[in-house]
Amino acid sequence: MKYEPVIGLEVHAQLLTNSKIFCGCNAAYGGGHNTQTCPACLGLPGALPVLNRRAVEFAMKMILAVGGRVNPESIFARKNYFYPDLPKGYQVSQFDKPIGEEGAITFREDGADRSIGLIRIHLEEDAGKSFHPETVHEDHNTWVDMNRCGVPLLEIVSKPDIRSPKQAGLYLTRLRQTLEYLNICTGNMEEGALRCDANVSIRPVGQEKFGTRTEVKNMNSIRGAERAIAYEIERQTKLLESGGQVQQQTLLWDEKAQSAHPMRSKEESSDYRYFPEPDLLPLRISTAWVEDVRKSLPELPAARASRLASQYGIPDYDATVLTDDRALADYFEETVAHFKDGKKTSNWIMTEVLRVLKDNLISIQDFAVRPDALGEMLAMVEAGTISGKMAKEIFEQMVATGKSAKEIVATSGLTQISGDDALIPIIDAVIAENAGQVAMYRGGKAALFGFFVGETMKRSQGRANPKRVNELLRERLGEPAA
Ligand SMILES: [Zn+2]
Repeated sequence: MKYEPVIGLEVHAQLLTNSKIFCGCNAAYGGGHNTQTCPACLGLPGALPVLNRRAVEFAMKMILAVGGRVNPESIFARKNYFYPDLPKGYQVSQFDKPIGEEGAITFREDGADRSIGLIRIHLEEDAGKSFHPETVHEDHNTWVDMNRCGVPLLEIVSKPDIRSPKQAGLYLTRLRQTLEYLNICTGNMEEGALRCDANVSIRPVGQEKFGTRTEVKNMNSIRGAERAIAYEIERQTKLLESGGQVQQQTLLWDEKAQSAHPMRSKEESSDYRYFPEPDLLPLRISTAWVEDVRKSLPELPAARASRLASQYGIPDYDATVLTDDRALADYFEETVAHFKDGKKTSNWIMTEVLRVLKDNLISIQDFAVRPDALGEMLAMVEAGTISGKMAKEIFEQMVATGKSAKEIVATSGLTQISGDDALIPIIDAVIAENAGQVAMYRGGKAALFGFFVGETMKRSQGRANPKRVNELLRERLGEPAA
């Protein structure tokens, strides 16, 4: 029997607010253990929550960016469960009345537009973090850090419309990109700023009814999420094919072992005994506020990609790569401000710049060659001051030293020789010293032309202008016999 996977994703994004969602504590990642806490986020008796307005605005940005609906009234609810990193014994979340509903994440897959619908987007607080510092304390205890308690999270829940691990990866990539463009989440999966849980089930192709689903957690990269989902689809398929049944449960992905282990049986929402948070009023959002936030939205990745393609005449593929990262797209546009040819600029960034970033594992923000310096160098190639080949060498030096192309050219003498006064003596010497090859070429061996170009370039130490060398050699050697 042939099976079809049915995948839904729940993504938790840590919002980049300065303070936590219900108190004034610092929400930044990485402070000393338990230093960023107060009675409210520790859940001490009598401490009351106050909602962070910025967190609400960030949630609205995301809802509007994906074409969703901001509900005029939403309710915070207590989700009750016991865990050592949850001092209150409940998490403040949203249940039957979330701040946002509907909307979709859209992306390109194999040349076609795909759209994965969203069920809901809601606000909630994060829990703390348990850890086992065995290298520091050999007591094998579980320690708990409450700094993360109360950090605002946005939960984005997709419809079960995803049909392959690859599609899940494309969905996550576009979702992360959107959060980054909105500047509301770092998108860093390794630090846990973006977490993805996948609900996975399979069903015979053609069957309407869903199979029993499992939830896979703990993936710390988009590639990891794709692998975990592929693993789970395969596990369920083997299970059904051998006559077994899928148990509803939560599995933890182990990236090292490339396998998933059962963590607990999966809870239903009724297990959490949700009820409205009595310490918070309903959240009411006016139409005027929604419109203000809508006006503040930046240009989003898909729109920017199509604008770059049409405005600068670059291929769709290049535009998509350049807009993957907002900072990279900014870099491209700033370079074009200094050197007008968008296509040549894009080519250079797509090959040379991205290669250096990849080799050195750095981001474009940390790249030594700034857009004005790259633009200046490209203009020097265009003017014929340096050749394309020299440009690569000069570029390496720019990367290594942070100097401009003009400075490097001035100190190293790396300019291109384009003038006939300098080129003709070199070419005449090459022709005079290779009489045998000249005779063979003129006799019909046309392929030897490259040999003369090579010799000329060698003699000029790579500095001769190849275009002019070609022209001069053709004039002097004449056409080979047919
Ligand atoms: Zn606090």
